[in-house]
Amino acid sequence: MIPGAPFFHRRAGELWIENLPLEAVAAQYGTPCYVYSRAALEAAYAVFESALRGHTHLVCYAVKANSNLAILNLFARLGSGFDIVSGGELARVIAAGGRADRIVFSGVGKSETEIRAALVAGIMCFNIESEPELERINLIAGTLGVKAPVSIRVNPDVDARTHAHISTGKKENKFGIPLDRVIPSYQRAAALPHIAIAGIDCHIGSQVTDPAPLYDSMDRILALTDELRALGIPLKHISNGGSIGIRYKDETPMDIGAYLKGLIAKIGNRELELLLEPGRSLVGNAGVLLSRIEYLKQADAKRFAVIDAAMNDLARPAMYDAWHEIVAVRQRDEQRLAYEIVGPVCESTDKFGQDRQLAVHQGDLLAILSAGAYGMAMASNYNSRPRPAEVLVDGASSHLIRSRETLSDLFAHEKTITSRA
Ligand SMILES: *Cc1c(COP(=O)(O)O)cnc(C)c1O
Repeated sequence: MIPGAPFFHRRAGELWIENLPLEAVAAQYGTPCYVYSRAALEAAYAVFESALRGHTHLVCYAVKANSNLAILNLFARLGSGFDIVSGGELARVIAAGGRADRIVFSGVGKSETEIRAALVAGIMCFNIESEPELERINLIAGTLGVKAPVSIRVNPDVDARTHAHISTGKKENKFGIPLDRVIPSYQRAAALPHIAIAGIDCHIGSQVTDPAPLYDSMDRILALTDELRALGIPLKHISNGGSIGIRYKDETPMDIGAYLKGLIAKIGNRELELLLEPGRSLVGNAGVLLSRIEYLKQADAKRFAVIDAAMNDLARPAMYDAWHEIVAVRQRDEQRLAYEIVGPVCESTDKFGQDRQLAVHQGDLLAILSAGAYGMAMASNYNSRPRPAEVLVDGASSHLIRSRETLSDLFAHEKTITSRA
């Protein structure tokens, strides 16, 4: 078993995903290529459902972590709701067969067009991130003759103790409404004719491995629900966001079941539906980025493995200094050497790891683990590189769920202008 990637394992020195060797996946679909395990996705989802059973709840998968239609469809069939942050994600969820009435819409910059589309679709609620957004949604709902269901996303001023780039719940962050403005915002919402108050929401950041700050934020928003009830503003649901960290290297992730049971215990006998918005914890360890070594290169005292995947395919190391485990798909009975693993993009940050001990030859396959979340979703075409294929493995079968982009896809939306003559 590979730590952090339970649906990947070795058979006779070869790395397999479920009942397929990754060699076979690479031979069929080429590299670089994202490969996901259906069983891993379903197992991750089941952890939430089994812990939450018995309490009214909705798991709203955070689409931005991995928005492939096949993955959205898989979660939709398991009964999942969705946390979206754009009109594009709304369109994806609907196209994937997700139910609009299980969608919550977060994000600080919802445009008029996005708000209108969400109201027409009939989403479960908007997570309001500012007072002007509340006013805008009220106006648009009025023109459509509907009431917009809303939650206020609270900025609880809790330190998630994660990477600064993925921390969202401190008062200096752009997200949510500050604690001291929450009650007046609900009072304003209650007075608006085209707003229906539904719940309260909070999301303090990502890759949080210690439940303490998450319990802290839950305590703060629960106290607000009590205060609101006393003011005659009862809420139907409470969302403590996503945030649950996974194992990339040697982190000890929280016990998700215990954490969720802890949230239910905090709710106690209040009549509140519990919402969660997990992204990374549902998909992160269900996928790898499969890549082939183009060259082994020696410069000074350093050895480089130049692979065919780059920062445009998986941005996390370049963007957040994130650590991903990198393993050889075929184990060789040779001495391991220290390599810096780099991609072909013309940036010094195009680096997946350094000082990685590997016994590899040119042409060998490497698997970059824990790449299921914020991997393909953040991929770009930088350096005019077509984005990779995505494959979903189910037992011994594989399904191409996104074809590799072609060269003509790269400039399909571009035009030259006519000459001035
Ligand atoms: C990104 C995001 C999530 C998901 O976060 P994870 O750490 O991947 O679980 C949930 N809610 C909101 C509002 C988000 O922006």
